[in-house]
Formats: sequence, C-alpha cells, structure tokens
Amino acid sequence: MAEQIMPGEVWLVGAGPGDPELLTRKAERLLGAASVIFYDALVGPGILDLAAPEARLVYVGKRSGNHSQDQASIDRLIVDAAVAGERVVRLKGGDPAIFGRAMEEIVACHAAGVPVRICPGVTAASAAAASAGLSLTLRGMTRKLTFLTAHARAGEELALDWPSLCDPEATLAVYMGKAAAASLAVNLMRAGLPEDTPVVIVENASLPTEWILHTRLSLLPLAALPALQSGPALLLIGQAMRPPPTGSRPDRYEHTAAGLLVTAPC
Ligand code: SAH
Repeated sequence: MAEQIMPGEVWLVGAGPGDPELLTRKAERLLGAASVIFYDALVGPGILDLAAPEARLVYVGKRSGNHSQDQASIDRLIVDAAVAGERVVRLKGGDPAIFGRAMEEIVACHAAGVPVRICPGVTAASAAAASAGLSLTLRGMTRKLTFLTAHARAGEELALDWPSLCDPEATLAVYMGKAAAASLAVNLMRAGLPEDTPVVIVENASLPTEWILHTRLSLLPLAALPALQSGPALLLIGQAMRPPPTGSRPDRYEHTAAGLLVTAPC
C-alpha cells in the first residue's frame, strides 16, 4: 500500500542493516518524501542519498559510551518538527521495533497528538545470517529464535535469565553483545550450554566492510577480541550456526586460532 507521509506526521522507518539494497520500497519512498530526516549512527552510507535534495538531514546518533543526544531530546526534536508541519522521517538502523527505542518516540508523539506510523526494516539478525549463508531456524531442530541484547550499563553486571537462554533448540541473536561477549559465553556455559555450541560473529553485516567469524562458545572470549573494532556486530549462537560443510564453502574462509574467519565480503 503506497501510504503517503502527510505534513505534521511522523514515520519511524527501518533503514535495514546498511546496504541500501536492503531497504524496503516503502522506506525508499518515505525517505524521498520527507522534509526532515532524523537519523541514527547505524544508518549506512548511501541511504541518506535517497532523501529529497531540499530535505533537512539531522544526525541524532547515539553510540555505546557516547550518549551525545539523550532520548528525551530526540523525542522533543521529532515532535517539534511534526508540530511545525514538517513531514518527519525518523530513520533507524535495522527494524525500528527491535532494540530501537521506538516506543519512547511513539509515546512522545501520542502525547503531543502527532500521528505516528512504523515502516519495518530488515533486522541485523536476518542480515547477519544471510551473510553467513545460514538459516536462523532448522526444521525439527532449531524451533526457537531469541532476540536479546547483551548491553549492560557501565559498571553493571549482565543480568540475563541464563537458564532460559540455554535451550539447545534455540538460536540466540545477540544485539549489542560485542563488549559483553566473554561474559556472555562464560555465563551460558555455566548455565549448561555445551562449549562446542557454534557461534557466528558478523560485523558490519551487508556493508563492504563486513567481517564474519565462525567459532564455538568456548572460544568466544578469544574470538571477540579481533572483533572489537568500531562497527556494529551481531552474535548468533546455536546449533543452526554450524559452518557450512567443507566443499560448499566459498574460498574466502581462513583458519585462525579463534575459528574460521571469512576474510572478504561477498
Ligand atoms: N534496530 C536494529 C538494532 C539496533 S541495536 C536492528 O533491528 O537491527 C544495535 C545493534 O544491532 C548493534 O550493536 C549490533 O549488535 C546490531 N547491528 C546493527 N546493524 C548491524 C550490522 N550491519 N551488522 C551487525 N550487527 C548490526
């Protein structure tokens, strides 16, 4: 349905994982129709080029450890722009409804009487699995997919329900888990997840700087070290993440101490 963006209206739009080709057609159309676009740190290059030449582009990014713009001021900026009669797009990485603080912005819009809609996007877990050439679920074997965030506030312990995460029939898709990877691995193994459980780390999924590492749970603390660069990374944990059998692998796989490293993007 080709819904329009009206003056005084806000759309929370999913920008997908980075590759502009992974935007929905609706997102592309809304971007072209917006008079102002408030965008995040995780919006990849090439996507903002789809804005109308006269549109105002406002960066409101927050990266871990650099909370330059607090959520309340972002809420206010969006609402004020809509009240002033702008066609507002709030562009968020991946899917706006997955670890995207969407509800705060929706509530702020409702409180101000501003109509607000959501355009979904391809979430990082889907993009990461696609890059690794793997399926997040396996018929009869991996019947559950858990999206979780391993982001802990500075100085605080990761407080997750570890026993419930140790389901051998689940894939865990861990967002914001790079810094906590070692603690995540130790806690999951302590709670009973086998140490040879396959793990895939995908940094910058879908972007030219993409980087994929296949490893196992016991090696995750070591494997996460080289991954500690500036790009966003997703951890996928579970039996479905077993690397493809030798022979079907592209030749860009390399053996390292931490596991199989995919050295170049597709
Ligand atoms: N709403 C987003 C998630 C925001 S939370 C979505 O649906 O994808 C931010 C986290 O998402 C990052 O810390 C990282 O874990 C993950 N992420 C986002 N883009 C990514 C990408 N291109 N590659 C790997 N992980 C990504």
